[in-house]
Amino acid sequence: MEGCLFCDIANRKIDARIVFEDEKVIAFNDIAPQSPVHILVIPKKHILSLTNVESREDYEYVAGIFSAMKKIVEEKNLDRSGFRVVVNHGKNAGQAVPHLHFHILGGRKLNWPPG
Ligand code: 5GP
Ligand code: ZN
Repeated sequence: MEGCLFCDIANRKIDARIVFEDEKVIAFNDIAPQSPVHILVIPKKHILSLTNVESREDYEYVAGIFSAMKKIVEEKNLDRSGFRVVVNHGKNAGQAVPHLHFHILGGRKLNWPPG
């Protein structure tokens, strides 16, 4: 979508350190990492947020995201050390970018409950 930061990253209009890509998904390092590994995994289709996943096609993108996350955590050995997946939605959760994204956080002990 025009003017969307993550669409621009997916379309290579804005630079990012890309760690995974396939037909439906792109994953890249967060610009302000909150842990030694902090990767954002997004659908190449502009889907606003989790509650906007509606069509069969949208669910295919979500399936693609889960498949990509599995490959990424295995590649980074996070499946052994542990990791967390986060989706922020709306104001209370501090969602800053209105394009669905899954945070993968790992590489250190993560506190629970989160802040
Ligand atoms: P949210 O708060 O919406 O769940 O997460 C947005 C994330 O995008 C934040 O962790 C933020 O650091 C990251 N981010 C914002 N702008 C950029 C950017 O231009 N490039 C990259 N790689 N990450 C970004
Ligand atoms: Zn977008």
